[in-house]
Amino acid sequence: MKIAVMNCLKANSVCTGAACLKAMNERIRSFEQYKDVPLELVAFGRCSGCENGIDEAGFKEKLDRIVSEGAEVCHYGVCTVKEGKECPIMTDAANYLEEHGVKVFRGTH
Ligand code: SF4
Repeated sequence: MKIAVMNCLKANSVCTGAACLKAMNERIRSFEQYKDVPLELVAFGRCSGCENGIDEAGFKEKLDRIVSEGAEVCHYGVCTVKEGKECPIMTDAANYLEEHGVKVFRGTH
């Protein structure tokens, strides 16, 4: 099964992606649902930011690449949710992915 992972760019300064990859490789937390399913990670990326304005074209290119790589599901990192609310840019991105046949699952590790 082809999957993608997307995280908040603000997490970039401290995040190596190790916890997401560990959870995926060990099929724990959000990846427990794939216990007996072979996984192929086809994309592991960040959004395109918002603090210095939104790079909409760049972000759309990333989302389109996730689609064209055939990802069946895209996991959103916990960092895309702050104070119980998902970043609205990521919500829009989730809607875009789902309109293009990619299921979005909120959570990684
Ligand atoms: S757009 Fe959302 S997910 Fe991306 S850096 Fe800004 S707050 Fe984080």
